[in-house]
Amino acid sequence: MAGVEEVDILWISEGMSCDGDSVSVTAAGQPSIEDVLLGAIPGLPKVNLHNKVLSPTLGGEEFLTPFRAAARGEATLPFVLVIEGSIPNENINGDGYWTSFGNDEATGEPLTLNWWIDQLAPKAWGVVAIGTCATYGGIHAMAGNPTGCMGLADYLGWDFRSAGGLPIVNVPGCPVQPENFMETLVWLLYEAAGLAPVIPLDDQLRPTWIFGKTVHEGCDRAGYYEQGDFAADYNSPKCLVKVGCWGPVVNCNVPKRGWMNGLGGCPNVGGICIGCTMPGFPDKFMPFMDAPPGAAISSNVIGAYGKAIRRLRSITNKTVNKEPKWRHNGNELTTGFKPTWRS
Ligand code: SF4
Ligand code: SF4
Repeated sequence: MAGVEEVDILWISEGMSCDGDSVSVTAAGQPSIEDVLLGAIPGLPKVNLHNKVLSPTLGGEEFLTPFRAAARGEATLPFVLVIEGSIPNENINGDGYWTSFGNDEATGEPLTLNWWIDQLAPKAWGVVAIGTCATYGGIHAMAGNPTGCMGLADYLGWDFRSAGGLPIVNVPGCPVQPENFMETLVWLLYEAAGLAPVIPLDDQLRPTWIFGKTVHEGCDRAGYYEQGDFAADYNSPKCLVKVGCWGPVVNCNVPKRGWMNGLGGCPNVGGICIGCTMPGFPDKFMPFMDAPPGAAISSNVIGAYGKAIRRLRSITNKTVNKEPKWRHNGNELTTGFKPTWRS
């Protein structure tokens, strides 16, 4: 399939979803959706985006047309299937359905998201799960939920392969960081064009260059952590680990990247990291505003060492905050200059 010149993106956000990821990606700048759709990126295939939030169609059947064609196996172009929201367990839906997308033309009955995934995923060149709900189940799949919902890999199988031979590509985040998704999409489109190698994914099917490091490794409050200087409550510029930050054990690049145009984020700007990108989110991180269980040991150990280091650094800081004594307007040169020539 490599070398394709035009691609459809069939985006279904009818999972257990808030459409937050659809909205989020409109904030991307590098690249923006407009850049991709208007062909501003050299080498990229022509892209037709079918997303209900961004669709210029009248909606309804007009919007559904490419989805229906692809489900019948009559897609004229290779397509990337994007799923947003978690996948409910329709085996336990009683007499109804948990979520649907369009109606069956013959019976008028709602077509479930699960039906669409069954039809489209095996025919898609690539399959992408956007946001933590579609990737791992997310908030809707928390303990006590009635739908028994799950992530796409739980539904299709972790060893699923698309028609293009690709595994599911997971781009978690609640919502997804705008450019994390756009960058992943651009890699896939370059791959479809035959201009990029196979996208590198970790064992949770996340792009490695985005999710390979922890929040803490990219947090500009880590200097406070290293000096054992912790916020005792919110509204502090210091490290937030004792007031609930999970950053040291969470895979995410948001503090390093910022949210929009490098601005915003989470712990870097005062919000505890709640681990919203993680497969264990949210249950394994709740209650959010309590200190993570492991944080006490490491922060206490660093506390003692950090106090001593801070004292030593403050002495040196005072020294380097003074100019050298030879910078004066006196009658004598005291810089230590020794002329090596005589006139
Ligand atoms: S605020 Fe969180 S991520 Fe930042 S340094 Fe502290 S523990 Fe690490
Ligand atoms: S820093 Fe934490 S809370 Fe913020 S987006 Fe990343 S995982 Fe979610």
